[in-house]
Amino acid sequence: MNALAPYSGRFAPSPSGPLHFGSLATALGSALEARHHRGSWLLRIEDIDIPRIAPGAVDAILATLERYGFEWDGEVMRQSCRADAYAAALARLKAGSHVFPCACTRREMADSALARDGSRRYPGSCRDGLPAGRTPRTWRVKAEGTICFDDAIQGPQEEDLARDAGDYVIFRADGQFAYQLAVVVDDAAQGITHIVRGADLLGSTARQIHLQHLLGLPVPAYAHLPVASNAAGEKLSKQTLARAIDDAPPARTLAAALAFLGQRPPAALAGASIAEVWAWALAHWRIERVPRRLQGPAPNSAA
Ligand code: GLU
Repeated sequence: MNALAPYSGRFAPSPSGPLHFGSLATALGSALEARHHRGSWLLRIEDIDIPRIAPGAVDAILATLERYGFEWDGEVMRQSCRADAYAAALARLKAGSHVFPCACTRREMADSALARDGSRRYPGSCRDGLPAGRTPRTWRVKAEGTICFDDAIQGPQEEDLARDAGDYVIFRADGQFAYQLAVVVDDAAQGITHIVRGADLLGSTARQIHLQHLLGLPVPAYAHLPVASNAAGEKLSKQTLARAIDDAPPARTLAAALAFLGQRPPAALAGASIAEVWAWALAHWRIERVPRRLQGPAPNSAA
């Protein structure tokens, strides 16, 4: 990435529930890194996965971000309004023969080898044409080649797409575009140059860079922050019943999120105003201090 290119970062929450400590820390890290580079910081609501949307979550997330003093630039993008852009990208991939229709059900793949992320690696049954009499359920991208990138926090990464991921779905059996396609199309549409997000997505990055190559889109720089876990070592999420953060004083939670990201805020900051916490954070943020690990325990009061 050209050091002189303007910096544009983003936070892209899925509205599957209210923000918890882990998503707040991710928002904070991406916002501070953008502002440290005097860049813009955009917001995108990833409401593409309709079955996972929690009623009221979009408004709750926006209200929480405001309450914590986040200031995003421009309009909030919503994936639910972007189907035409995803369809155009799928059409381009079809025209380039980079994708194929697939009839396989989950059950038919139950015996295939595991991909790096623990999902079933596609065995290739429909890759060279749909077997006679089968109806396409999904569209998959042909996973070919090796993707290397240098993550600003987690260091150099390499993935052999065929071995580590396998042919991956970009249009789902339920008629929805998959996250991997949507995120790539939207990051390009928003002009994102730097992606700072949770390390639970480190394993998706090679597929996203692959799609950027196939679609002729610029490849942003990546930095994956540790994700917060509970006492049982599970990533905080709606499923692990992570507490929403709204009942603790915001400045204290922000200071705890700074500490979680390796920033050593002075103890007095926990009792300061939100504006004071932001002023300290903007003056002292250094991405080099973020610990190089995929996950870390959230402070007791937050998990
Ligand atoms: N929407 C995703 C999430 O909330 C984040 C996607 C991304 O940052 O690329 O986990």
